[in-house]
Amino acid sequence: MKITIFGTGYVGLVTGACLAEVGNDVLCMDVDRDKIDRLKRGEIPIYEPDLDKLVARNAAAGRLSFTTDPAEAVAHGLFQFIAVGTPPDEDGSADLRHVLAVAATIAEHMDDYRIVVNKSTVPVGTADRVRDRIQEILARRGKVLEFDVVSNPEFLKEGAAVDDFMKPDRIIVGTDNPRTTELLRVLYAPFNRNHDRLIAMDVRSAELTKYAANAMLATKISFMNELANLAEKLDADIEKVRVGIGSDPRIGYHFIYPGCGYGGSCFPKDVKALERTAREVGYEARLLQAVEQVNEQQKRRLFEKIHGHFNGDLAGRTIALWGLAFKPNTDDMREAPSRVLMEQLWQAGARVRAHDPVAMDEARRIYGEREDLVLADSPMEAVEGADALAVVTEWRVFRSPDFPALREKLKQPVIFDGRNIYDPAILRGMGFHYYGMGR
Ligand code: NAD
Repeated sequence: MKITIFGTGYVGLVTGACLAEVGNDVLCMDVDRDKIDRLKRGEIPIYEPDLDKLVARNAAAGRLSFTTDPAEAVAHGLFQFIAVGTPPDEDGSADLRHVLAVAATIAEHMDDYRIVVNKSTVPVGTADRVRDRIQEILARRGKVLEFDVVSNPEFLKEGAAVDDFMKPDRIIVGTDNPRTTELLRVLYAPFNRNHDRLIAMDVRSAELTKYAANAMLATKISFMNELANLAEKLDADIEKVRVGIGSDPRIGYHFIYPGCGYGGSCFPKDVKALERTAREVGYEARLLQAVEQVNEQQKRRLFEKIHGHFNGDLAGRTIALWGLAFKPNTDDMREAPSRVLMEQLWQAGARVRAHDPVAMDEARRIYGEREDLVLADSPMEAVEGADALAVVTEWRVFRSPDFPALREKLKQPVIFDGRNIYDPAILRGMGFHYYGMGR
């Protein structure tokens, strides 16, 4: 099938490459010329495991190509996927500028039936706005053309995006036209062989399903972080509590890790956007507000612990950071807890020596060259001469370091473990001063 994808970010590029991998003819369009030039040269602008091989293979086979030309993009695909960003607006609501710009592009150039499939995370009612925008422009062009607008929210996880797309837990298809559902069923059949995971529903429910999923996941994290803060005050160990409650199948062990807060491009913005949507329809979503507030506070906990340990005397000190990405296996630093910590440390006059296996270029892009930030080539180089170590992202490479060497390199043997990846008793036994989250 012929498919066009608007947006070549984490969602668009993965979607395009995976759809090409099963034999489709995919054209990816982006307004970012530099990104498209890099993709045409075979460079992958983001870090996502296995994506490079997938893109290279399908580009070489002629099934995956790239363009900045909107007319070419709209002419290409029966399916027109929208996978552009929906960043938070100033008031927390989702900014639909890019989604509506793509709708306008499609309407300006279409000359035949098109299925517009929205993969971006968008508030309930957006499909109607996309439809209206297309209709308006077609009317202006004096064209009467048939088209459908489908909500097909994406659930892939950065760091496991290719795998998630290839083996999805569910494929949500929101449309009011049963014939379109069947076309999407055919399109997704290669990813839906083991058992039927395609769930068809109306458009508005599909749009809400995406926010509901992210809000539930964010709630689990904020719940555990709240309990972690309480455990600390009660001299209990949240990690023991986690294991204790996870054994109940109604709760389960998944996604109940306490830590230094959730980040990334999705949970923070989606919780805020859903809360905002609720407000617009006259409902105060108090649980969502609390989930967000607990998370904001949690992102500052590591700094509070560091500040407390040094009695507020942070000026001129150097803190080593392990992990900059908002979670392991990605280079994405959007809303990452590391940023809150670094910015607080800098404000207090401290310097940072950081290491991340893949996100250091992204850190350089965000912060540029600055005296109080050293990006070190290895975890051990980051701790060289530092007053303390803070672990912010639970990359595998940080899980079992050479502790005696670490103790040697640190000016003081103190570790702030923002992800509870170490055993406090073992570390204390080795002479470290250990701070965890909720233990
Ligand atoms: P991203 O920022 O990585 O990529 C968006 C891309 O869209 C950019 O390359 C940008 O240049 C391009 N773009 C902007 N306007 C355009 C236009 N008019 N025409 C063509 N391209 C345009 O974003 P992302 O992380 O891939 O997220 C995209 C959407 O998917 C968002 O709504 C997000 O909430 C949702 N989502 C993201 C994830 C994730 O893990 N990143 C998971 C599920 C859903």
